[in-house]
Amino acid sequence: MSTTTNVLDMAREQLAIAAKYLELDPGLHAVLSQPKRQVIVHFPVVMDDGSVEVFQGFRVQHNASRGPTKGGIRYHPEVDLDDVTALAMWMTWKCAVVNIPYGGAKGGVKVDTKKLSIRELERLTRRYITEINIVVGERGDIPAPDIGTNAQVMAWIMDTLSMEKGYTVPGVVTGKPIDLGGSEGRVEATGRGVLVAASEACKIVGLDLTKSKVVVQGFGNVGAIAARIAEEHGATVVGISDAEGGIYNPAGLPVGELAKHYSGHDGGIAEYKHCDKVTNAELLELPCDILIPAAISAQITKANADKIKAKLVVEGANGPCTPEADAIFDDKGIFLVPDVLANAGGVVVSYFEWVQDLQNFFWEEVDVNQKLTRIMERAFASVDEVRRSHKTDMRMAAYIIGVKRVAEATIRRGIFP
Ligand code: NAD
Repeated sequence: MSTTTNVLDMAREQLAIAAKYLELDPGLHAVLSQPKRQVIVHFPVVMDDGSVEVFQGFRVQHNASRGPTKGGIRYHPEVDLDDVTALAMWMTWKCAVVNIPYGGAKGGVKVDTKKLSIRELERLTRRYITEINIVVGERGDIPAPDIGTNAQVMAWIMDTLSMEKGYTVPGVVTGKPIDLGGSEGRVEATGRGVLVAASEACKIVGLDLTKSKVVVQGFGNVGAIAARIAEEHGATVVGISDAEGGIYNPAGLPVGELAKHYSGHDGGIAEYKHCDKVTNAELLELPCDILIPAAISAQITKANADKIKAKLVVEGANGPCTPEADAIFDDKGIFLVPDVLANAGGVVVSYFEWVQDLQNFFWEEVDVNQKLTRIMERAFASVDEVRRSHKTDMRMAAYIIGVKRVAEATIRRGIFP
């Protein structure tokens, strides 16, 4: 997405390294390298002025060996089939790393939502989900929010699929508003999970989270919440950016105030005064202890990895660091917590939401957060254990666990027929 790096090549390269570690059978490696199903749709939407525009959308299911497939829906002008396929593959490993009974999927529509009215956005969403309804459903493939989509979009999806059924089916999608079967704690879940991962990693690298300086790229659902929770832990957030640029103050930025005014719409954050303005490229290279890239893919590459000053990088976004960047981090001694572990909190609480919907029995936020923290800590510990025993890095350790679990499920189920 707006990068020269093909993220699908990147995802396949990561899998190939893990396959080598695991001495995976070539046939099994071939199965895991490909998505199970890719749907491409072109669909018309009547715009407010009466004209008709045609949009392109995707839904990709990577692997369903461990359960129904699960993954967000991204609305972005540059999303393409390779992006969505890579993101679906990462979802498969992520669900396996935190050991929840899902496979991976992802969806997307090539659209600039800033150019749509709210009614156009609703019509686009309802038509897109209708076009892909042959593959989604509460027992088969359950969407969720991602870049450019939110709880309101999930509500329209739930309503549209329910209209087609003739009765309300809350479990067809997660990340819904609470009063429509959403879960307490879902909005904060990814950012909260990122901070659990950061806190565990601090113990390994000898950082005191409460005294650390944090830089966050992206100020949407993941970035804004991660920044807020970092501040709640006592850390000082010194740099933040959104799509249009970033801000820096070594003495600290007022995250709460910024979130109130600028979260959820691109281009706002740079309007804030009492700080220095930085570009997104400069933001990543600021002096800090912890860097949380929480925007888009392929932001840290061989071109800039050497300039990163953080001691710890925690991937809030999917695929923000390329394999070449990983290698440079290794050489520089920068500790990286990979996306498939660090940002898994979102899908964990999406899983909780789905379970609550299926049972029509809803939990309190404190229970959600406790269960989330326990799963994240446990997953972090098991990845760290494999890192130590295999003398590798956290990404490969997470892949070893995730790919192994998926491979074992595939073997146990057997190749049909
Ligand atoms: P969002 O749309 O809420 O926010 C995205 C943020 O990134 C916005 O502030 C936007 O301005 C900024 N941004 C976009 N392009 C940028 C660029 N080139 N440079 C800097 N900032 C840029 O999206 P989100 O839900 O917060 O997702 C962010 C990332 O986290 C994505 O990679 C997504 O796949 C991943 N993720 C999200 C969830 C979730 O639960 N929402 C879960 C796991 C992973």
